[in-house]
Amino acid sequence: NSKLSGKTALVTGSSRGIGRATALGLARKGALVAVHYGRDEQAAQQTVDLIEKDGGRAFTVGAELGTPGAIDQLFHQLEAGLREHTGEAVLDILVNNAAATTPGDAPEDVSAEQLDEIFAVNAKAPFLLIQRALGLLPEGGRIVNISSAVTRMAIPSQVVYAMSKGALDQLTLHLARHLAPRRITVNSVLPGATDNGSAAFQMPEIREPMSQLSAFKRLGEPEEIADVVVFLATDQARWITGASLDATGGSLLG
Ligand code: NDP
Repeated sequence: NSKLSGKTALVTGSSRGIGRATALGLARKGALVAVHYGRDEQAAQQTVDLIEKDGGRAFTVGAELGTPGAIDQLFHQLEAGLREHTGEAVLDILVNNAAATTPGDAPEDVSAEQLDEIFAVNAKAPFLLIQRALGLLPEGGRIVNISSAVTRMAIPSQVVYAMSKGALDQLTLHLARHLAPRRITVNSVLPGATDNGSAAFQMPEIREPMSQLSAFKRLGEPEEIADVVVFLATDQARWITGASLDATGGSLLG
């Protein structure tokens, strides 16, 4: 269980949901984890507390992605935290997990401002984070982008969100080639409907139909996505790059 000992990781949006489970999973394998949050510092601190209770190491970094100066703010805290804990600013694993979701408007009702916000957080921020992380990533580093099954199934009310995740998948494809000379792998993980603990998933009228999407007829658990991300971060996954890993519990079987 020490496959990632000596490694460092940044998981964006790990104050809750899939990001929190991923931060916990990476820490359990020995990585020092930077737990990033946008607004909920207390929840991010809870993630750190859970990791520490588990015998792991972590610290929080806060920055609201999509706002001016956010990338600088994040890296300033990240580099300081890494230096404090390890004596150097090396980031082995970057997980682009934070994302903004749409309220599920009909395409006719989406505003230009909504488009900008979703793209700023879900596509532009991961690009800028990777660009900036390249100075900290060593040979053999890992980048994992959390995409979505909606890039493979038509849900009209999710068109803008799906477009932004499609852009993220392009980042995976093209940077996988670009970073291969440095042995850095870049992959996408595509979750299906996953119970992130939000109120919506506890409502039977939402939970039931969403559960039916999977071949297993239930929602995914954050840990089931986290396990895939953790695998991609390990040396066992060194031969996988530019891939999109289906973590949907068979939601795309047709
Ligand atoms: P949650 O909604 O539970 O959590 C979102 C996380 O992202 C929070 O930690 C939040 O931080 C952070 N975040 C959101 N917006 C910003 C922002 N502008 N700046 C900084 N941080 C931000 O997410 P899930 O766990 O459900 O989803 C995680 C990933 O998985 C996302 O990329 C999502 O698109 C993807 N996914 C999820 C599915 C699901 O069914 N849950 C299905 C398919 C894909 P804070 O609250 O502190 O602001």
